[in-house]
Amino acid sequence: MSATLTFLGAAGTVTGSKHFLESGQTRLLLDCGLFQGLKELRQRNWAPSPVPAPSIGGVLLSHAHIDHSGALPRLGREGFRGPIYCTGGTADLLKIMLPDAARLQEEEAEFANRHQTSKHQPALPLFTTADAEGVLTQVRPVGFNERFSPAPGVTARFINSGHILGAGLVEVSIDGRTVVFSGDLGRYGVPIMRDPDPVPAADVLLVESTYGDRLHPADDHHDRLTAAVARAVQKKGWLLIPSFAVGRSQEILYDLRALEDASRIPSLPVYLDSPMAIEATAIYARHPEEHDEDLKRVEASGERPFAPKRVRICKSVKDSKRLNDTDGPGIIIAGSGMATGGRILHHFVRRLPDERTTVLFVGYQAAGTRGRLLREGAREVRMLGQVVPVSAAILVSDSYSAHADQGEILRWLGGFTRPPETTYIVHGEPDAATALQELITTRLKWRAFVAQDGQRVSLG
Ligand SMILES: [Zn+2]
Repeated sequence: MSATLTFLGAAGTVTGSKHFLESGQTRLLLDCGLFQGLKELRQRNWAPSPVPAPSIGGVLLSHAHIDHSGALPRLGREGFRGPIYCTGGTADLLKIMLPDAARLQEEEAEFANRHQTSKHQPALPLFTTADAEGVLTQVRPVGFNERFSPAPGVTARFINSGHILGAGLVEVSIDGRTVVFSGDLGRYGVPIMRDPDPVPAADVLLVESTYGDRLHPADDHHDRLTAAVARAVQKKGWLLIPSFAVGRSQEILYDLRALEDASRIPSLPVYLDSPMAIEATAIYARHPEEHDEDLKRVEASGERPFAPKRVRICKSVKDSKRLNDTDGPGIIIAGSGMATGGRILHHFVRRLPDERTTVLFVGYQAAGTRGRLLREGAREVRMLGQVVPVSAAILVSDSYSAHADQGEILRWLGGFTRPPETTYIVHGEPDAATALQELITTRLKWRAFVAQDGQRVSLG
């Protein structure tokens, strides 16, 4: 009997990445991500694993983002005891991201119990800090391109995908067939991360399609950042940058330092106000083997790439709140990236009513988030139990992205020396996945299908 693959998540959507590879006694998961966003998706996180957790032999994890890794503690809670293979960078990031995800779950449950906002009595966390710590002991880091055997007769390796630190494509050889899973594909020619490595061949390919129907806007993020800093200087106010802790915060620090070096902006105090971003930045600095040529050049010159001249870190909440009484101009980088929580909220409460304040959004703002409301021009927003009037200038920079766009996905597919026998499009909203499938079919003349949720396919 030949191996089969079942799409258990990130099929028709961009979260919950999870694919089940099975052959005889071999039972492996590619990724084990949380569903995020809409309620009906999030509710799926509570269902028992469609494959009994104790029966799973191992997990091959493409990268640390929670929509790819965040269901691991839950799987551990249900009895999964196998190894979790990933790169060293991913292993380091998991150590901060899984406990953080658990803490958010615990806080949410505690809030629901205190305010009786849940129909469940008592409300329980999806998983606990202890669950997260438990699965972290099962992590087995392996180097990029190092072949390992996750099950008898099966070999695998991770290939740099250029998405975030540690991110890999997964190549698995099973029953004489080669499966390549793109994980999340990164971009070409961006600072910090290397370009995605080409893969010459696969029998079956799973490719992500987050931006399968779109091209990123032209790179103007240096201009946008310069304009935002210039306004803060001119108004003697604060520039608030809500940012994701892993990846984006390091890009912002890197760009601020580069703009200072080029004398395009003055050196303002820059406060990195996020414990997770502080740790993630240290982890990025600790993995020089993953740095691209730009980053290596900066390091060779003796500079610290993620350190603008007057960078400060705010470890404690007290450090963070102290900024409320500090005069600008200055820059605060804080989470969460969509202003759904985190320390950015108390800065918003304090600074949004002040017209001297500038806000710069540097990432995707999902529907229903405060970030989306603000970027759409809301004149007031609710947070921390208050209605906060908005007099600050709200600026947006849309050209930051850690995902390949349509052109970059095609560029990466162009690295194959022969077409895969079958290509499945995963990790995309239906329009994006369909657009990519049509393009692959018509332009490359490959056999390509949009993966359906729950669908089981033969690799034979
Ligand atoms: Zn990702």
